[in-house]
Amino acid sequence: MDCDILIVGAGFYGATMAEQLANAGHSCLIIDKRNHIAGNAFTEVDEATGIEIHRYGAHIFHTPNKKVWDYVNRFATFTSYQHRVFTVHNNNVYSMPINLGTVASFFGRNLTPNQARDLIKSQAAEVQSVQPSNLEEKAISLIGRPLYEAFIRGYTAKQWQTDPRALPQNIIERLPVRYNFDNRYFNDAFEGLPENGYTALIANMINHSNIRVQLGIDYFDIKNEIKAKKIIYTGPIDRFFDYQFGELGWRTIDFEWERVDAPDFQGTSVMNYADEDVPFTRIIEFKHFHPQREYRQEKTIITREYSRFATREDEPYYPVRTDNDKLRYGQYREMAAQLPHYHFGGRLGTYHYLDMHQAIGSALNDSEKLIRELGTLNGG
Ligand code: FAD
Ligand code: UDP
Repeated sequence: MDCDILIVGAGFYGATMAEQLANAGHSCLIIDKRNHIAGNAFTEVDEATGIEIHRYGAHIFHTPNKKVWDYVNRFATFTSYQHRVFTVHNNNVYSMPINLGTVASFFGRNLTPNQARDLIKSQAAEVQSVQPSNLEEKAISLIGRPLYEAFIRGYTAKQWQTDPRALPQNIIERLPVRYNFDNRYFNDAFEGLPENGYTALIANMINHSNIRVQLGIDYFDIKNEIKAKKIIYTGPIDRFFDYQFGELGWRTIDFEWERVDAPDFQGTSVMNYADEDVPFTRIIEFKHFHPQREYRQEKTIITREYSRFATREDEPYYPVRTDNDKLRYGQYREMAAQLPHYHFGGRLGTYHYLDMHQAIGSALNDSEKLIRELGTLNGG
C-alpha cells in the first residue's frame, strides 16, 4: 500500500487532515476498520421508517469558532436547528439546562432573575466556604442542593457509574446555568445540522482526486504492508502501543433501538431521565432533528441510552480521565513523541473528549504544521 500519507480513521479529524493535505498536493489513503466513513458522526437512513438516524449517538453541531463554521459550511448546507433538551424527574418534565423556567416550575412559583439568584445562593450556602473539589460540590455551588439532587445526582450517577463526589468538576461546567428563560442547550454562536446528514458532509470533504478511501480495514492487520511518508493515526493510542502501560478508561453506551407505530413518540428530540430508578439516561427521537423534512409515515424511531464502562471490545465513547488514566496517557504520549513518522490525533488518538468542532479545529491547525514539515522534507 503506497501513498504519501496514510490516515487511519475516517472520522472528522481524519477527513479534515485528508482534505487539507490533499489540497496541498499530497496523496492520501484513508482506511477505516468500519464499513463506512464519518466515524462516530455517521448518519444513515433507517429503511423501515425512512428517518435519518445517528448510529453512534445524537450529534449536534455547535461551535463558537467562525473559522470552523465557515469550513464545514463549504461541504454542506446547515439547517437552523437549535438544540433544546427536556428532563423527566418524578414524573414531571422540566427544561434543561437549568434556567429560570426550570427553577420556576421546580419550586412552583414565579421568580425574577434576582429572586432566583438569592434562592439558589441560600440553597448553596453549605458549600460557600469550600473551594469545590469535585462534581457534587461544584454543582451545589452553582445550583444549590435541591436542584442538584433532582436533576444532576441521579443522571450523573447513571452516566458515569461513579459517585459524583469522585468525579472532576469540569464535567458539570459543560452545562450552563441561566437566570433567564433561554432554554437553548448550547451557548455557541453557530449551531445547526447538515441538511443531508454528516455522512454526506464528510463524503464531500474527502471527494478529491488526491484521496482514496478503503473501508473495512484494520490498521493493525496491514501495518507491515504500508509505505508512507507519514501515518496519521486516529485510533485508540493505548491499542497502538499494545496496551503496554495498561488500558485507558472509557465509557461506552448501549443503544436500545425501537421503531414505534406512532407519528410522534415524545414530542422532542432528546428527553433526559434524571431519576436513578429509570435505568437509561435519555431517549433520542431522531425525527425531531429535521422538522423541515416531510417524514410521511406514521412511524418513528427512538433509542434509549444506557451508559457503562467500556471493555476492549466496546466502542470507546467518553474518556474517563481519572488521575491514573492521565498518568498512563502521559506515558503513551512520551512513546508517541519518539515516533516522528507518526502523528496521533483526534478523540481516540489524544484521549480527549472532543466535540466535532474541536476535532476539526485541531486538524486544521495540525495539518498546517504537517504541510510545512512535509514541505521541508521534500526540500520545498
Ligand atoms: P471518530 O469519529 O471516533 O473517528 C475515528 C475513526 O477511527 C473511527 O471511524 C474508527 O473506526 C477508526 N479506527 C479506530 N481504530 C482503527 C484501526 N485500528 N484501523 C482502522 N480504523 C480505525 N460532538 C459534537 O460536536 N456534538 C455532539 O452532539 C456530539 N455528541 C456525541 C455523542 C456521543 C455518544 C459521542 C460518543 C460523541 C459525541 N460527539 C459530539 C463527539 C464526536 O463524536 C467527536 O468529536 C468526533 O467523533 C471526533 O472525530 P474523530 O475523527 O476524532 O473520531
Ligand atoms: N448532566 C446531568 N443531568 C442532565 C444532563 C447532564 O446531570 O440532565 C450532567 C452529567 O454529569 C453529564 C454532564 O452534565 O455528564 C455534561 O452534560 P452533557 O450534556 O455535556 O453530557 P454528555 O452527554 O455530552 O456527556
